[in-house]
Amino acid sequence: ASVINKIAAGEVIERPASVVKELLENSVDALSTRIEVDIEQGGAELIRIVDDGEGIHPDDIELSIASHATSKIADADDLFSVRTMGFRGEALASISEVSHFRLRTKQHGQQVGTEMEVNGGIVKEPKTCGCPEGTQIEVRQLFCNTPVRRKFLKTQATEFGHISEQFTRVALANPNLHMVLRHNGKTVYELPATHRFIERLELFYGSELAQNLIWVEAEHEGTRLWGYVAHPSQSKSTRKGQYLFLNGRWIQDRSLQHALGEGYRGLVMIGRQPIAFLFLDLNPELVDVNVHPTKSEVRFRDSQVLYRLMLSTLRNKFLSMDL
Ligand code: ADP
Ligand code: MG
Repeated sequence: ASVINKIAAGEVIERPASVVKELLENSVDALSTRIEVDIEQGGAELIRIVDDGEGIHPDDIELSIASHATSKIADADDLFSVRTMGFRGEALASISEVSHFRLRTKQHGQQVGTEMEVNGGIVKEPKTCGCPEGTQIEVRQLFCNTPVRRKFLKTQATEFGHISEQFTRVALANPNLHMVLRHNGKTVYELPATHRFIERLELFYGSELAQNLIWVEAEHEGTRLWGYVAHPSQSKSTRKGQYLFLNGRWIQDRSLQHALGEGYRGLVMIGRQPIAFLFLDLNPELVDVNVHPTKSEVRFRDSQVLYRLMLSTLRNKFLSMDL
């Protein structure tokens, strides 16, 4: 089983940033209000995430790192109406297979917490421990038992850059969460909880961009598109300022990216990309999020409708502004 697990692990866990993504999503799913992430050496040495979420019941701890064990789906039909971020039950199993992994958790109202250690897939007997309510996960020496993969880690700065991007996506999608990111003991982001998306955005992009953003909003048969787009003059040379969220999770979608570009057609200089932070809220039954292990690509039942919604929303907005 170990070989199979290591192969499966490689599919989900490519680099430290993949670990951060999975752990952040779990903390969001656990209804945390505060999430702190500590990284050492670009994540190669340590990834620690501490949340104040609902925690894991002592009876479920061993199950939580078992492959394909998830508390989030009851039967196969549920796969098509996934509302939580995680649902495959593979992340903790994969991460603990290729690292020195330690989980501490305590549910609200419990007297003591539970601690469990897994070293390269070998599970130690859980024991009780003192810890605050919530869950703390430490991942040390990622890829310690897959030397080739460890060797292919890039520089600290590069790996941390990927981590920071994953953190940013979750932070933008969840402004109501207090979130902290530290690297080698230095605070990189400290984001207080806010009800206003734009306030969070400012912390990443500065107030000049944030103050000049254009609000857009549209609805079509229960599907809602909303968010902010930048004035065409504030475009970028890369797509790095383009964020699209589906039901609270960052996604990548070529068709919608294309629609965005078309919406700005003739307004941005050739070779420049618009900046946009757009949210799509739609019935989860109209999306299959289960097409890729890392879940950033989705399949829509009717992508044409969304394409037209995106395009017409932007065009109408820019026409009304007489750009
Ligand atoms: P999935 O998220 O797909 O269910 P994971 O391997 O990521 O699978 O997590 C396994 C299970 O462990 C989750 O279903 C959840 O019950 C539990 N879990 C993981 N992280 C946390 C957390 N931070 N707080 C509470 N429960 C957690
Ligand atoms: Mg998960």
